[in-house]
Amino acid sequence: MLENKVGMIFGVANKRSIAWACAASCAAEGAKLAFTYQGERLKENVEKLAAELPGSLVVPCDVTNQAEVDAAFAAVGEKYGKLDFVVHSIAFAPKEALEGEFVTTTREAFTTALEISAFSLTQIALAASPLMIEGGSIVTMTYYGAEKVVMNYNVMGVAKAALEASTRYLAADLGKQNIRVNAISAGPINTLSARGVKGMGSLLGYVAERSPLKRNVQASEVGNTALFLVSDMSSGITGETIYVDCGYNIMGV
Ligand code: NAP
Repeated sequence: MLENKVGMIFGVANKRSIAWACAASCAAEGAKLAFTYQGERLKENVEKLAAELPGSLVVPCDVTNQAEVDAAFAAVGEKYGKLDFVVHSIAFAPKEALEGEFVTTTREAFTTALEISAFSLTQIALAASPLMIEGGSIVTMTYYGAEKVVMNYNVMGVAKAALEASTRYLAADLGKQNIRVNAISAGPINTLSARGVKGMGSLLGYVAERSPLKRNVQASEVGNTALFLVSDMSSGITGETIYVDCGYNIMGV
């Protein structure tokens, strides 16, 4: 499905990362992949995982460093000459902002969360579009806490709301270049970032009990939806937020 397609994957921290599940689904369908990592701490992890997919590229990219973002896209342009899709799977908020009351969120925590978790999508879309010479697809990861209050999710919910709105505005701007932009709203999954949100364990149980499918979603199911969204199978879909949450979001009382 993705033969001769080149993708860039942002947000692999380890093998549990949603980004890694997206990479595995896309690589299985023939995509060539470039991985980015944030800081030396994660370099070895990402290089080890990427080695499982021969021919992939690994480049540093902390989104708070514009020079690193520019260099990462330049490296992709140099190696592959084009880019077909991007999976944006990064988010961050200081740990103390992900517990207690939202009303105590500091200016610094708010700015950091919004910059890394929401603005980075626009930053990456702008850098990616010149390389998407045959059109393209950009997929980001969001969460239900963008629309409804989820205990302890706090400023990250506000960042995800901005991310979902950014998805629509970017889709409107980039559609004329045949670049599609969509978000996947994933149900809770036990990853490194998720463990930073207080009470994640009980949230997993709560959602599994109440969702129509009576379980939590698996990262591979999010990966397969990302595959659909970056492939031509979804050529008529842009600006959407698609739920991959075992149906949890449809439930009322
Ligand atoms: P993860 O494995 O911890 O991935 C998050 C990634 O974001 C990490 O690779 C992290 O690197 C990276 N990141 C943080 N700050 C960055 C920066 N300044 N520049 C570049 N990268 C940075 O957790 P995940 O659950 O797979 O998260 C992926 C995405 O899915 C996030 O947007 C998250 O909000 C979203 N999501 C997750 C869930 C869930 O329940 N797990 C549900 C819905 C949506 P570091 O480790 O170095 O910080």
